[in-house]
Amino acid sequence: MSTTPPPVDDLGERDLRVGAPKAAAAGLPGVLAGLGHARRQLGASRSAKTFLKLNQPDGFDCPGCAWPDPNHTSSFEFCENGMKAIAEEATVRRVDAAFFARHDVDDLARRSDWWLGQQGRLTEPMHRAEGDRHYRPISWDDAFGVVADALAASGDPDRAVFYTSGRTSNEAAFLYQLFVRKLGTNNLPDCSNMCHESSGVALTQAIGIGKGSVTLDDVHEAELIVVVGQNPGTNHPRMLTALEEAKRRGAAIVAVNPLPEAGLIRFKNPQRPTGVLGRGTELADEFVQVKVGADLALFQWWNRRLVELDDERGGTVLDHAFLAERCEGADELVAHLRGLDADELLAATGVDAGTAERVAQLLAGRDRIIVCWAMGITQHRQAVPTIREIANTVLLRGSIGRPGSGLCPVRGHSNVQGDRTMGIYEKPAEAFLDALAAEFGFAPPREPGHDTVDSIGAMDRGEVDVFFALGGNFLAAAPDTEVTARALGRCALTVQVSTKLNRSHVVGGRASLILPCLGRTERDVVGGVPQKVTVEDSMSMVHASVGTLEPASPHLRSEVAIVAGLARRVLGPDDDVPWEELAADHGAIRDRIEAVVPGFTAFNERIEIPGGFALPHPPRDAREFRTPDGRAHLACNRFEPEAVPAGRLLLQTIRSHDQFNTTIYGLDDRYRGIHQGRRVLFAHADDLHELGFVDGEVVDVVSEWRDEPDRRAERFRLVAYDVARGTCAAYFPEANVLVPLGSVAEQSNTPTSKAVVVRLERPTA
Ligand code: SF4
Repeated sequence: MSTTPPPVDDLGERDLRVGAPKAAAAGLPGVLAGLGHARRQLGASRSAKTFLKLNQPDGFDCPGCAWPDPNHTSSFEFCENGMKAIAEEATVRRVDAAFFARHDVDDLARRSDWWLGQQGRLTEPMHRAEGDRHYRPISWDDAFGVVADALAASGDPDRAVFYTSGRTSNEAAFLYQLFVRKLGTNNLPDCSNMCHESSGVALTQAIGIGKGSVTLDDVHEAELIVVVGQNPGTNHPRMLTALEEAKRRGAAIVAVNPLPEAGLIRFKNPQRPTGVLGRGTELADEFVQVKVGADLALFQWWNRRLVELDDERGGTVLDHAFLAERCEGADELVAHLRGLDADELLAATGVDAGTAERVAQLLAGRDRIIVCWAMGITQHRQAVPTIREIANTVLLRGSIGRPGSGLCPVRGHSNVQGDRTMGIYEKPAEAFLDALAAEFGFAPPREPGHDTVDSIGAMDRGEVDVFFALGGNFLAAAPDTEVTARALGRCALTVQVSTKLNRSHVVGGRASLILPCLGRTERDVVGGVPQKVTVEDSMSMVHASVGTLEPASPHLRSEVAIVAGLARRVLGPDDDVPWEELAADHGAIRDRIEAVVPGFTAFNERIEIPGGFALPHPPRDAREFRTPDGRAHLACNRFEPEAVPAGRLLLQTIRSHDQFNTTIYGLDDRYRGIHQGRRVLFAHADDLHELGFVDGEVVDVVSEWRDEPDRRAERFRLVAYDVARGTCAAYFPEANVLVPLGSVAEQSNTPTSKAVVVRLERPTA
C-alpha cells in the first residue's frame, strides 16, 4: 500500500502563495484533488474499495455535508470534499499510545489544527489525569469509571454539559439524550446552536416547523432558485449537480453573496465528458454582490418591489388567495413595506439598481421559487428577522407546498438535522418529553438546559464540572477561542468521543479523556450481526448507512456502544433501560425511536427502501402550518444596519475549500487562489488603497465592540479580492478570536461570525 506518512512538522505560513481565483468549480482538477487526498491517506486499492460504497444503498453515508443523495443511478455518488472526508476517516495513519508518549499536550497545543488532523485515527481510550501533561492508555471500563466518578463527585446533573456534533447517528443521538435526561438534565447543546439555529427559530415562527420544505425533486423542478449566503461549490458540492439539472430544465439561478464563488459561476460536472473536458455549465444568471449584513435590506427591497409590481399588474404577482386562506400578517406586511424608503434600503445593500430590479422581475415572473441559504445568513445579529424576510418572499408568492417551490436552509454536517429530531435539544418540546416519559417510564427534566453559548458561559463561571462531547471539535467550532479554552479548563473533566485528534483534545479540563469511536465507513458487528445506523439529510430524508471497512483498531467502539456502556456505568445496574440489549441491536433502538418520535412508523422496514423515506413536513406535504393558530405568519421586520465607523471594514468568516467545518484537510483554497496557508484576509483593492494598505502586506485584524475591549487576530496576509466594498473575509477558526461570546444573533443565541466591525493595523514587531 503506497501512502504518504503524516507531516512531521507544520508548514506554518512560510510557503503561502496567492494566485488568481478560479472561474469554475469541480471538473478534472476537483477529481484529481480528491484522488490525491485519498492516495496519500488510503493508497490506491483501499481508495477504490472505499469509494464504491460511498452513498450507495448497501454502503455508508458520506460523513461530510447534509446534502441529499439522488436516486442512486451511478456508482460515483460523491464529490471532491466527500472524498477528502472519507480519506481522513479511512486513513491508514494511526495516533496510538506511542504517539501520545512522544507528544505531551503542551507540544500538541503548539501544532496547527491541520497538523493535528493529519496524524491519523485514534486507536484506544486515553486519559490525562489532573496534573499530568501526557495522555496515557486506559481501559474502557476504567474510562467509564472516570466519567461516573466525576459525575458523582459533582452531585448535580445540571453541572454537566453533553454536547453533540452533527456526525452522530440517529441511534446514538437517541440513546445519548435518553441517558442525559435519565441523569437529570437538559444540558444538551449541539453544533446546530452555532449554525442553523436561526433557521430553526425563524421557520418555526413562520411556518410552524424548523426544517426546510424542499425535496431534491423540487430543486430540479424549480423555475427560479435564489442561493443566498452560501458557497455550495465548497460546502455542499453535489448541490451543483442539482442546480445544473434545474438549469438544464430552464431554471434561472440567482447567487447572493459578498464574494463571487467559483461554484456558482460555472460548474464542470466531473460525471459528464463536457464537465471534465469542456467549459461546463454557467450556473448563476445573476450575481448579486450584497454587503455583509445587508441581506435583510435586500429582501425587504425585493418584497417591497413585489408589492409595487402586484399593483402594476392588477394583483397577479402576490398569491392573494393563498395569503387570505392560509396566512396571517399579509396586510400588515404590505403596509409596512410600502412605508419603507426603497432608496435607503438599496443603498445599504451596495447592490446596483439594475441587478436588483432584474431579480425582482424574476421573483415576480416565475412561480416555482426556491430560496436556499446557509451560514452567510444564519450567523448575523439579525439572522432571525432576515430569514423571516426570506420567508415573506416565498409566502407572498405562494411558493410553498407545491412542486419546485419552498424554503431551503442547507445544513452543514451530515446528521445535524437528525440529531435534533432525535431530541438533542436544550429546550425539548413538551410532547417529546411526554412521549419519552411514557416509553421509558421516568420523569424527564422539564427545565430548559444550556445551549452552546450558555454552556461556555456556565463553564467559565465555574458552574460546570463535566463537559462531554459526542464528536466534534468544540473549541475550534465555538466563538471566542480564548474564553472557550479558559471555560473548558475550569471543568474538572472534559471527555471527547472522537475518531481523530483535534484542538479540543489538547485544551481540555483539569483532567481529560479521549474515547475513540468507529467511523461511519467501518464495520460495526455485534454478536456476529452487522449493524446499521441511520441519518436524516437536509431535506428530511432518513436512510441507512452500513460501514464496510475493517475498523482502524480492535479497541474502537461504536458511539452507540459508548453511550450505552457509559449509561449503565453511571446510572447503575438497577436502571431499567435495557442498555445492553439496545447496544446489541440497533434495530431495537429504532423501535424505541418509532415509539417516541412522530414520523418514524415502520422505521426498520422503511430503511430497507433504497434512498430511505421522507419524514412528514406539513407545509411541504399539505400546505398545513402547525403554528399556534394553524396559519403561516408573515413578519414586519426592522433592518438595523451595523454602524461602521470610517476606516473600518465588516468582516465575515468563511471556510476554505480544503476545510469541512473545523476539519482542515489541507492548506489550499484552490477556487480563491490560495495555496499553502490560511492566515489571509480578503478585502477589496479599492478599500485597501483607501485604508493605506497594499495587497501582500501582513496586518493584525482588530475587532471593535461597544461594551468590550478590542480583540486582535495577528498576522494575516492581505489579499486584494473581489469582495463587496466595505467588507472583508477570513477563515474560521483562525478568526474566531475576534468574536466575543456575548455577540449573538437575536432570539437564536447563535454566535455572530458575520458582520464584525474590524480595523487593520500594521504589526508592531
Ligand atoms: S455533497 Fe456532501 S454528502 Fe455529498 S459527497 Fe459531497 S461532502 Fe459528501
